[in-house]
Amino acid sequence: MRLSRYFMPILKENPKEAEIVSHRLMLRAGMIRQQSQGIYSWLPLGKRVLDKVNAIIRDEQNRAGAIELSMPTLQSAELWQESGRYDAYGKEMLRIKDRQDRPMLYGPTNEEMVTDIFRSSVKSYKDLPLNLYHIQLKFRDEIRPRFGTMRSREFMMKDAYSFDLTREGAEHSYNKMFAAYLRTFDRLGLRAIPMRADTGPIGGKLSHEFIILADTGESEVFCHKDFVDFDIPGAKTDFDSVEGLQAIFDKWTSLYAATSEMHDEAAFNAVPEGDRLSARGIEVGHIFYFGTKYSEPMGAKVQGPDGKEHFVHMGSYGIGPTRLVPAIIEASHDDNGIIWPASVAPFDIVVINMKAGDQACDDTCELIYAALTKAGKDVLYDDTDDRAGTKFATADLIGVPVQIIAGPRAVASGEVEVKDRKTGARETMTIEAAINRFVA
Ligand code: ATP
Ligand code: MG
Repeated sequence: MRLSRYFMPILKENPKEAEIVSHRLMLRAGMIRQQSQGIYSWLPLGKRVLDKVNAIIRDEQNRAGAIELSMPTLQSAELWQESGRYDAYGKEMLRIKDRQDRPMLYGPTNEEMVTDIFRSSVKSYKDLPLNLYHIQLKFRDEIRPRFGTMRSREFMMKDAYSFDLTREGAEHSYNKMFAAYLRTFDRLGLRAIPMRADTGPIGGKLSHEFIILADTGESEVFCHKDFVDFDIPGAKTDFDSVEGLQAIFDKWTSLYAATSEMHDEAAFNAVPEGDRLSARGIEVGHIFYFGTKYSEPMGAKVQGPDGKEHFVHMGSYGIGPTRLVPAIIEASHDDNGIIWPASVAPFDIVVINMKAGDQACDDTCELIYAALTKAGKDVLYDDTDDRAGTKFATADLIGVPVQIIAGPRAVASGEVEVKDRKTGARETMTIEAAINRFVA
C-alpha cells in the first residue's frame, strides 16, 4: 500500500475526549472515528487490525471444532418473549418497530436466535455435540459508553453456542472453548487469566471471565501471580480428548483468581502474601454454561439413545474483538505510539522514503516494496513528500513492527537502515540483505 494513495487520517494533537492511552492512540493513528455516542467507524488502518484479530479468533474456534455461521443484527421480539428475556433485559436493549408496527430489536446477544436455529433442524443426539459461532455486531445501550471501542454501544462479538445431550458433554464443550480462549489471547500477544465469574441461579463453577491485567481496566481483580507464567496449550492439543482438556482446565483453575464480584477475601488471604496479585483488569472474554435455561422454554430437545426426548444442555462463549484492539494497545505501547504484536499488526513492514523525488531513493524503495509485497508481506510504503521527521513519527505512532528506512546517503552506498519498532534497535545493511531478511 502506498501511503500517498491510502486513507490514514493522522491527528497531530492529542484528542481531548480520550481518557486512556489506547483511545488516544487509536484516534491519533486514524484507526477509528466516533459517529455518535459509543458508535464507531473503523477506518482502514483500524479495520486491518480488527480483521487480523478476527482471523486468529476464527482459526482457534475452528480448531476447537466450532462451526461458523452468520446471524442477523436485527431480531424479532417474539423469540425473546419465548425465553422471557424481552421484558427482563431492560434499557440496554435497543427496541425498534418495523413499518408493520412489529417489535424488533438490535441483538445484544444471540442465545434465543441460535436456539431457534437449532430446534428447527436438530432432532437427534447423533447430531451432537454441536457448537455454532459467528462474529457479528451487537448493540447494548450502555449507561456509560467510554474509552472508545473499549466500552461502546455498538461493538463486535464472537459469540459461540454449544449444544450437548448431557451435562458431562457440555462440560467437555466448555473445556474446548476454555483451551481455545487461552490459545487465542496468547496468539494476540496477551496474557489473559481465566477468573471465576458469577453463574447466577444455575450455580456450579462453569463461568469464567478472561481478564487482561491493565491499570486502566474497569474491573478489580485478585489472583495468584503464577498465572502470569503458566504454559499455554500447544497447537497440537487434542480437542477430542476429554481427559486432556479436563487437565488443562484443572490446571488453569487450580490457583486463586477472581474478579471483585466473586472475590473471597479469606481464600485470597490463604495465598502466600508474596504470591498475591491484586490489580485492575479488562474483561476480553466470557464463557458460560447455563444448562437448559433456553432449551426448556424454547423447546429445544433431541431424542436420546434411550428413545426419549431431552432438553439440550447449552453454553455460550463470547469474545469482544473491538475491545481487544484497544486492550492490545493498553498492553503494548510507548511514548511514541503503538507497538503491535506481529500477529495483528496492520502492516508487517513500513518502507520509509526519506527523500521522495530523489531518483536513487525512489528506485530503492520501489525495489524493496515490490520484492516484499511479492513475498506475501503486507507492506506500507511511505512515498509521501512529508519531512523525514514527520515520517518517522508517523511510523512510530502506527506501530508497524519493522521500519526500512531509505535515505540519500545510505542509498548512495547501496544500503538502508532497518529499525525494530519495539526495541528501537537500528541496523544498517545492504538493500539485498534487508530484502532477504524478510523474504526468507
Ligand atoms: P462487561 O462486564 O464489560 O459489561 P459483559 O459481561 O456485559 O461485559 P458479555 O455479555 O460477557 O459482556 O460479552 C462478551 C464479551 O463481549 C465481553 O467479554 C467483552 O469482550 C465484549 N463486550 C461486552 N460489552 C462490550 C461493550 N460495551 N463494548 C465492547 N465490547 C464489549
Ligand atoms: Mg461478562
